[in-house]
Parts: sequence; structure tokens; C-alpha cells
Amino acid sequence: MGECLFCKIAEGVIPAEHVYEDADYVAFEDINPKSPTHVLVIPRRHIATLNDLTAEDRALAGGLIEVGAKVAKRLGHEENGYRLVLNCNADAGQTVFHIHLHLMAGRTFAWPPG
Ligand code: AMP
Ligand code: ZN
Repeated sequence: MGECLFCKIAEGVIPAEHVYEDADYVAFEDINPKSPTHVLVIPRRHIATLNDLTAEDRALAGGLIEVGAKVAKRLGHEENGYRLVLNCNADAGQTVFHIHLHLMAGRTFAWPPG
């Protein structure tokens, strides 16, 4: 946890382009965007993967989606739409082990994802 990149971004120790913050969540621009809008929403609390969520985290996990939708609307994507993505472990391509919601928008996305 002490070496976690996203904990450090949440604490402001490592800089990022923050787009939203509250007591429980931080949202910032992805450093290597894959769409015109590519924002990461994280809980301030360190949770490594989706596998580590428990029933006690339901409010926190639900809030992650609510914040993702709120930021999407603030950025003007309400009408055209957007994608919210959570990757878990190797097959999904998770590279940072602090759960994060990808908010992607500004273009049309393929389905299913590659
Ligand atoms: P994932 O592959 O789902 O674990 O997503 C990790 C995301 O974090 C990738 O889209 C990276 O581009 C992004 N990322 C890695 N380092 C940083 C950083 N320092 N600031 C912002 N985004 C980052
Ligand atoms: Zn962390």
C-alpha cells in the first residue's frame, strides 16, 4: 500500500490532472488515454482488486459508479454516452493494483471489447 501509485495520486504526493475529488473518491486523467475522455475514478481507500471487495464495501463500490456517471455528465457525455470499465487481474489487463474505474467517452466503442 505504501508503494501504491494510485494511493500516492489520491494523497497528492504524485501529480495528476485531477477532475473531481471528494472525501471518498478521486478522479484524474489517464496518463495514456485511449479515448478523447479517459478518466480514472478511484476510492481513496486502498483496495487492490475487485476480488478484495466484501459486503462491507457495497456502498463504496456503488459510489464509484455514481461518481463515474457524475463526472461523465459534467464532461458533457450524458447524451452521447460513455463506457465505465473495471479490469481485474491479468486476463482483463489490470496493471495498477488499486481498483479504478475507467470512464471512457468521446468516440464510439466496439462491443465486445478486444
Ligand atoms: P488498468 O490497465 O485497468 O490497470 O489501468 C491502469 C491505467 O492507469 C492505465 O490506463 C494507465 O494508462 C493508467 N496510469 C498509469 N500510471 C498513471 C499515472 N501516473 N497517472 C495517470 N494514469 C496512469
Ligand atoms: Zn492504493
